[in-house]
Amino acid sequence: MPLDTEIIILGAGCAGLSLAVQFQQQLDPPPTLTIIDPKTSFPRDRTWCFWDVHPHPFRHSVRHTWDRWSVHQSGEVVVQKDSQMRYQYLPSDAFYEDARAILDHPNVTFLMGETATDVKETETYAEVHTDKQTLRCKWVFDSRPPDLPATPNNPKDIRILQHFKGIHIKTQQEVFDPTCVRLMDFDVDQSHGIHFLYVLPFSKTEALLEATFFTPQLLEKDAYDVILKQYAEKEFGLTQWELIHEEFGIIPMFTEPFSREIGKRIVGIGTRGGAPKPSTGYAFLPIQQDAEQIAKIFKEGAQGKRDWPALRTKRNTFLDRVFLSYIARHPDKAPGIFFRLFKKTTPQTLLRFLSDTGTLADDLRIMTAMPKWPLILETLLSHQIWWRHS
Ligand SMILES: Cc1cc2nc3c(=O)[nH]c(=O)nc-3n(C[C@H](O)[C@H](O)[C@H](O)COP(=O)(O)OP(=O)(O)OC[C@H]3O[C@@H](n4cnc5c(N)ncnc54)[C@H](O)[C@@H]3O)c2cc1C
Repeated sequence: MPLDTEIIILGAGCAGLSLAVQFQQQLDPPPTLTIIDPKTSFPRDRTWCFWDVHPHPFRHSVRHTWDRWSVHQSGEVVVQKDSQMRYQYLPSDAFYEDARAILDHPNVTFLMGETATDVKETETYAEVHTDKQTLRCKWVFDSRPPDLPATPNNPKDIRILQHFKGIHIKTQQEVFDPTCVRLMDFDVDQSHGIHFLYVLPFSKTEALLEATFFTPQLLEKDAYDVILKQYAEKEFGLTQWELIHEEFGIIPMFTEPFSREIGKRIVGIGTRGGAPKPSTGYAFLPIQQDAEQIAKIFKEGAQGKRDWPALRTKRNTFLDRVFLSYIARHPDKAPGIFFRLFKKTTPQTLLRFLSDTGTLADDLRIMTAMPKWPLILETLLSHQIWWRHS
């Protein structure tokens, strides 16, 4: 049975394009790739921020970096500074443009405006059904948004949603401090659950303000706008501005595992494969590391013979699950815990932990920065969600 292409990637988003770029850059000759996505354009639909702890191919799309960030709670402020591991800002339109330029090659086919409806496999090939055709290939990498059961299979599992609305604004007045990212400002109404404001200042007159929640339910659509308006007025005295861009996001912060190996020839990547770090929702760097590792397996000819790379170590998974379990049980304590982490650890330790690249010593330092007895108790209480194989 002839194959239409060697590899099909479902989704031309962050994970799909990052993997395609790694195939293109690492393999010689690169494989024939078909990328399928129902969207027909590549707008600025999100901004990615992350610390510079791991190399990635999109460095020249980074538009801004900062070496200082702060966390605010109960009127106190902790500021961390690190000029090596700077905080990076990469708007999605720059990323898409960069990735598409690298992928502008005869071995790559984009099928835009086409929706994958089903994926099947046999011993020797995989088959993707779309709303327009059926295609056969050797491997499928699937980054379509995950379809999860309405409730977790294990009722003990925690499902918190990180949901946020962001507005990128330009003002007449010089009100922002462009030298420091306000990572989490918890000095806002906590009555809906864990909530903070995020301020990414590009200049004295331009910033992204984001109202973020870690709760099981979303808010009414308009509620985010009301909160952003109130914050802009209270903190910066702003009542009007020019809106440059807005974004809305929902990132799963779940203790349950995601489907990585969907079949022998079908692999989950990106959010579908469990890329977002469960305790923070950061996914950009895990996606880059994963793409690099998957392409390396192909480079070594080990596809199908070796396990697909794990997105994080068992130790990271354990820490994330205990942490999520704790903040789900005690949401009122979450602001204090985050504040304490930033206050009691060095930026290097904390950033490696947040980016899943920490050593055992880093993780121990993180654990000692947390309140000892509550953490021990939570580890015992949550054993059913971390004491398992995946
Ligand atoms: C607004 C926003 C801001 C974020 N900010 C950050 C951040 O600052 N730092 C960070 O680390 N992470 C961030 N994240 C989390 C994470 O990095 C992103 O969600 C990232 O885009 C996930 O990549 P992905 O490829 O899994 O999903 P996406 O990038 O969403 O790509 C999925 C693709 O699948 C396509 N698709 C859907 N249905 C089908 C179908 N049936 N067939 C084929 N294709 C289909 C979609 O059109 C889409 O292009 C953010 C997320 C959002 C939503």
